[in-house]
Amino acid sequence: MMTLASSPGCSSTTTATTYVGRFAPSPSGQLHFGSLVTALASYLDARSKHGIWLVRMEDIDTPRCVKGMDSAILNTLEAHGLGWDGQVLYQSQQHERYQQSIDKLIDADLAYHCQCTRKQITAMGGRYNGQCRTKQLSNQASPTAIRYPLSGNAPPFIDGVMGAIPQGDTLEDIVIKRRDGLYSYNLVVVLDDDYQGVNHIVRGADLLPVTGTQIALYHHLKLAVPQYSHIPVASIAPGRKLSKQNHAKPLDNNQALENIHRAMAFLSMSPPALTEYQGIEQLLEHAVSLWNMKNVPKTPEIIVDAQESTYHSQR
Ligand SMILES: [Zn+2]
Repeated sequence: MMTLASSPGCSSTTTATTYVGRFAPSPSGQLHFGSLVTALASYLDARSKHGIWLVRMEDIDTPRCVKGMDSAILNTLEAHGLGWDGQVLYQSQQHERYQQSIDKLIDADLAYHCQCTRKQITAMGGRYNGQCRTKQLSNQASPTAIRYPLSGNAPPFIDGVMGAIPQGDTLEDIVIKRRDGLYSYNLVVVLDDDYQGVNHIVRGADLLPVTGTQIALYHHLKLAVPQYSHIPVASIAPGRKLSKQNHAKPLDNNQALENIHRAMAFLSMSPPALTEYQGIEQLLEHAVSLWNMKNVPKTPEIIVDAQESTYHSQR
């Protein structure tokens, strides 16, 4: 395992040409087949380019996190041969850095307090109209959300799997810190990827709709935009991706070889029969040599058999 400098900020220790990718699970449940597909795709893309592959625990939404799940996730990655570089970054330990960024934006009049309720935003048609921008509110009387002004069209970009994604009329002033004090996903994902020097993001296509907003944020904060590649998500029915909510079965670490082989097939990698392989290391080594992002199906989701107990626990 390659070791990065002990300082978690690795931008200064890597050159501009070093590929840095990451897998960023949320410790709200164990890894299932769908998360393995994402982990494997980002791992193979990094390793095939002699890059660094980081793991980050997206435990910012603390109410949803389950104690001990981070270790279970890391055990599962190890059991499947997916070794990461450096230390695992926990978002729950980064609050000070997030708050500093927000304070800087507020001090520069680039972010503002908003006291609008969900009901008021629904009355605006569901899209925030920016009415608190000029109100100079503070959070002294009652808790407020912090918003960052984004308007106009989300920028177009070239996705590594899906190709040209046109600009979209989707931007609105985004919440960067919620009224309940939680930092928002769209802010911290951008701050963390920049902080960790991540320049290649391979993740599920369910995040394609928020990518324009995140790229706009990169532009506004004058940060280098990473290359995005969105792979199909595994779903049990159209629009219902495998998840803890729909009872996706946790991966069985004793079936690691079969699981990786199945994930390779999902990604259209046409792996030879499992009997060809001695073990997980050999399988992954071959997977790295087979990997080509161009072969990944250009579709947002692939339906897997809901009756297949490997994917879905019977209820
Ligand atoms: Zn408001």
